[in-house]
Amino acid sequence: MPALQVIMYTSLMKVPVNEPVITKAAKKYVVDALESGWVSSAGPYIGKFEAAFAEYLGVKHAACVSSGTAALHVALLSIGIGEGDEVIVPDFTMIASVFAILYTGATPVFVDVEPDTYNINVALIEKKITRKTKAIMPVHIYGHSVDMDPLIVLAQKHGLAVIEDAAEAHGAIYKGSSTVTTGGKKCGAMGDIGCFSFYGNKIITTGEGGMVVTDNDALAERVRSLKDLAHSPERRFWHKEVGYNYRMTNLQAALGLGQLESIGEFLKHKEWMAAEYGKRLSGIAGIQLPVTKPYAHNVHWMYSILIDDDFPMTRDALRVALKEKGIDTRDFFPSSASQPVIRDLLGKGGTFPVSEHIADRGLYLPSGLALTQEQLEYVCDSLKKIHG
Ligand SMILES: *Cc1c(COP(=O)(O)O)cnc(C)c1O
Repeated sequence: MPALQVIMYTSLMKVPVNEPVITKAAKKYVVDALESGWVSSAGPYIGKFEAAFAEYLGVKHAACVSSGTAALHVALLSIGIGEGDEVIVPDFTMIASVFAILYTGATPVFVDVEPDTYNINVALIEKKITRKTKAIMPVHIYGHSVDMDPLIVLAQKHGLAVIEDAAEAHGAIYKGSSTVTTGGKKCGAMGDIGCFSFYGNKIITTGEGGMVVTDNDALAERVRSLKDLAHSPERRFWHKEVGYNYRMTNLQAALGLGQLESIGEFLKHKEWMAAEYGKRLSGIAGIQLPVTKPYAHNVHWMYSILIDDDFPMTRDALRVALKEKGIDTRDFFPSSASQPVIRDLLGKGGTFPVSEHIADRGLYLPSGLALTQEQLEYVCDSLKKIHG
């Protein structure tokens, strides 16, 4: 191949930040659901998907909902969180964690994060607990488990509920390894109640969708009622409280069930991606690679890096340079407390040095399930060239 063609080819390579893989089984189930006529939230795939997800996580109950945000909202409501209550949440998270708390009328109380895992810094939680605190919401950010044991001990000591936001952590394990599937606890299955998202860029997708999981019969019943307009058990269309339409459709559940059958392969792909990126990018001055603590089996939902002062340009300039080479990236979430809507509602609620630091320096590289070896090598080579 002439040299020019090689250059044109590589300069045209497009690497999206995330591209899902829709499996054959998923397509088959969706077509089956369509042909059956069960397109809404009744139909056999709902129950099948819930049962398969509950079994995968090792929990008693799973209830599918219309989004991860809806999952968090009904999970909080099922615990009885409402006006006047405080819920502890990491300052560094996707805004849905915070909004779900606000929907209930409760107040989010932010805690700074760890500089290496970007997860809530458990050692900083206790001093944020007040008489109004009702719950802690750990978020397993980018697929790395929060250090849950000390968090749960703290919650028990103060009588607080634990609502896990596992929207980015399908299959992630705490105190287990990739080769040990028993003994380790799965993210989402450690708190009183756990929440997942099946948005298009998540490890399992239903397009839009979510799941609430719990071992607690009463909470499961509350979630099932609240997500379906809170009909009275003894009389349909008779309502004693406000409910929501957060139902998932049978079509989405069919897609989810098909995807879930391949979760083992999806997680292997993530593991491969992290190993390859780690191998190729280690030793580049100014780039901090993601860490995996000994207690975590990290599923690397997104391969996240920090660009520090030793790098020849800023994070934002690097993102532009990568974009010029066809490589799509995303920057980290801004500090929640610094979001305009949060300042308007709650005022300036303290400072979060770690969260603010990483928000300015973090980005994630293309991490989708469809990412190829060729694309990954192109991303790493481009980064090295830009670094110079
Ligand atoms: C994606 C995500 C959500 C929200 O899920 P949606 O399905 O988009 O509503 C909540 N929390 C975290 C941490 C997420 O990454």
